[in-house]
Amino acid sequence: MTTNGSTRKFNESNDGKTLQSVSDERVVPAMGMTPGSFETAAQSTIKEIAEYYSNISTRPVLPSISPGYLQKLLPTHPPSEPETWSDIQRDIESKIMPGITHWQSPNFMAFYPASSTFPGILGEMWSAALTAPAFNWLCSPAVTELETIVVDWLAEMLALPSTFLSKGDGGGVIQGSASEAIVTVMVAARERYIRRIVEREGITDAEEIEDRMCELRSKLVALGSEHSHSSTHKAANIAGVRYRSAKTYKQDDFALTGAGLRKTLEACKSKGLHPFYVTVTLGTTNTCATDRFEEIAQVAKDYPDLWIHVDAAYAGAALVCEEYQHISQHFAAFDSFDVNMHKWLLTNFDASCLFVQKRRDLTDALSITPSYLRNTFSDSGLVTDYRDWQIPLGRRFRALKIWFVIRTYGVSGLKAHIRHHIKLGEMLAELVRRRDDLFSILVPPAFALTVLTVKPNRERKVEPPERVNGAEPPPYQGSHVPVLPDAAGDEELEEANAVTKEVYELIDSRKEIFLTSSIIAGVYAIRVVSANPLAEEKHLRRAFDILVDTAEEVLRRREEGTRKANGDT
Ligand code: PLP
Repeated sequence: MTTNGSTRKFNESNDGKTLQSVSDERVVPAMGMTPGSFETAAQSTIKEIAEYYSNISTRPVLPSISPGYLQKLLPTHPPSEPETWSDIQRDIESKIMPGITHWQSPNFMAFYPASSTFPGILGEMWSAALTAPAFNWLCSPAVTELETIVVDWLAEMLALPSTFLSKGDGGGVIQGSASEAIVTVMVAARERYIRRIVEREGITDAEEIEDRMCELRSKLVALGSEHSHSSTHKAANIAGVRYRSAKTYKQDDFALTGAGLRKTLEACKSKGLHPFYVTVTLGTTNTCATDRFEEIAQVAKDYPDLWIHVDAAYAGAALVCEEYQHISQHFAAFDSFDVNMHKWLLTNFDASCLFVQKRRDLTDALSITPSYLRNTFSDSGLVTDYRDWQIPLGRRFRALKIWFVIRTYGVSGLKAHIRHHIKLGEMLAELVRRRDDLFSILVPPAFALTVLTVKPNRERKVEPPERVNGAEPPPYQGSHVPVLPDAAGDEELEEANAVTKEVYELIDSRKEIFLTSSIIAGVYAIRVVSANPLAEEKHLRRAFDILVDTAEEVLRRREEGTRKANGDT
């Protein structure tokens, strides 16, 4: 109906002229391919992916190209005309593969893994097919509801205290990464801390509240330990607060202790700062240390406004096994917990599962709906709008791949997967111990990670460390590898560091296996962690042989150099 009540045809404009119908001049099918050609393209892509995984161990784990290689292989300008799928597909092998580091190769023993599995890949396919930035429940109820179900399943599998389940006041949410989870909870911690102080001070005037909040913000300090992942420091930068790290010591295996945390808290307070947040870690990046949760929980009693976040990005996966679940009970004293299923739990990147005991802590800080508009449905968990639990608005359908993985493996399959790698790690550590003429183990091996150094002088045979009642040998076996940071000037440490570095760099240059190195308390060390799905005993044994052969080669070369320098023949 028009305003004067007369009717007008839909395709007539105001002046009565008939609108021309839109002629579709697109030469490429609307979806890029017809359904039939998509099926053919997808089938051949899937065939190539299956072949890639079948033969992955025959590819060098590291690329052999120089920076900028791709620029030389690709046209400078985008194609002006459409290209066929077969042309595009061919370039995967010829252009992309040369620049790929094969994280899924069993010869990848660097960093922590980034799991990929076929059910995970299928989950990604369906997620792409149903693409939607499902920021609230209504955007696709299944996206939200499946997420709540799978994160609750995960909480149960990891034996998290029931307060982290969505049934009560808590719950889980899938984030993109452990770093993103840390920024998210740090912002929630900042807002909760400031709100509590202002409420306690009884300030009611809006302007005064704002002034006081700004004043408090300038005094906030977030804490981690020297071995917390760098994402905590980065999060503090993003959140606009100070960052301090608590010292860790070799006699504690570089774990954060209750006393260490308390000392740092007190030092901050004595400077007039307000510590409001701390990251504690299950499985630190360098050495896979586990912070002393029980002691830290005691400290937490004296700091009720301190938000304690457990970063279990990698090692949290091990909590699916009963033998590690005694650790989970301590989390009842902490505010949040995060594990990357995309690291060691067989789910393709990205799937970082963040749990909180009080979901209101997140929504109070991150909801774009002011508190006076909140509804009881959201609070009761009947309708969850996950956009209020995270930084971005839009979100991917990540729950699908988690669902596919948990169903495909079952809890028993997930436990078997973790135990397989734990056993492989223990085997490698034992092999290393047996060559204590060549290697020292720097910290007790944990969660499939072994951290070792090469002894600079193998002629000086070091006695195996004493085992007390069959217990683990102490770290730093081999007394001639000094490890104290204040020994940095020590000649022997410098020599050990130089030899270990040389061995590492030679292995790296040969690209048969990929390991990482790190400097821990002044000691240059090699980290070996094999936890991706395709890793088997033979790969670990080969890696050990490569370590031994390379260490012997380097030491032989150095000995020859010394002999020549001394004029010996
Ligand atoms: N926390 C720990 C203990 C890690 O080891 C890592 C990465 O390895 C991270 C956080 C960062 O993980 P993300 O890449 O998911 O941010």
